[in-house]
Amino acid sequence: MKISTVSCKTALTPSRLGGYDYALNPYRGCQHGCTYCYAPYVLREKRRWGEFVEARDNLPRLLSKELRRKAKGVVGISTVTDAYQPVEKRFEITRLALEQLQRYDFPVCIQTKSSLVLRDLDLIQSFSQKEVGFTVTTIDDEMRQRYEPGASSVEERLSALESLADAGIDTWAFLGPIMPYITDRNDDIEALIAGLKKSKIHYLMVDRLNIKQGMRPRLLDFVKIEFPELEEMYRTLPADYFEEVKLEIKKLCKDQELKVEFCY
Ligand code: SF4
Repeated sequence: MKISTVSCKTALTPSRLGGYDYALNPYRGCQHGCTYCYAPYVLREKRRWGEFVEARDNLPRLLSKELRRKAKGVVGISTVTDAYQPVEKRFEITRLALEQLQRYDFPVCIQTKSSLVLRDLDLIQSFSQKEVGFTVTTIDDEMRQRYEPGASSVEERLSALESLADAGIDTWAFLGPIMPYITDRNDDIEALIAGLKKSKIHYLMVDRLNIKQGMRPRLLDFVKIEFPELEEMYRTLPADYFEEVKLEIKKLCKDQELKVEFCY
């Protein structure tokens, strides 16, 4: 893993994602190295994702200047990285950025796969408007290690969600992407939804796997190596595949009285 520091030119960028006015990404690159990550394609990054991290160490200073003149709006933290990946323990850029955002009381929405977010619980609590979401794609941690190798375990994520909820912070979970025949096995999805309900999330968001053109080779290579029996199925997915999964998840959420929204 190559870790370096770089200077960025802006701290807050306008966001095109629904619900966010700004995006804030303290790092370029991500140690979590998820197989399905779309960030390198959004950023047109040619280096192998998961093998480098650039820490934007001037970001908190820049942010403090920008916040004086920006209109107040929701800041989405971690739109193309994970602000709480392991390197954050060393650089603390996310914490310093949160301190600035808190001074101006900008609403924040943090998305992560790391229980390190609990380090900043006190600070997050002090915002007037705050939300924390965890991506959780499976209940099976052995499976998780195969495609989200650097992220927190499933158990740590569920437990972190519960701690955040107990601290009065609005929480949600993102079940996505659904990886056909890998993360959507019926018993696993049922157990995952029950686990998320127990962790006291307010709602669940679900998205399907979208194989963007550039990420296709990497994803198909992963399937070929880890799940050779699924390779052909991934090449010839039925058009209505994800609609059936949607019906199943809707039913399971209804049984658990858990609010669910689909991104597809
Ligand atoms: S945690 Fe998010 S940004 Fe990091 S590799 Fe995984 S999907 Fe990509």
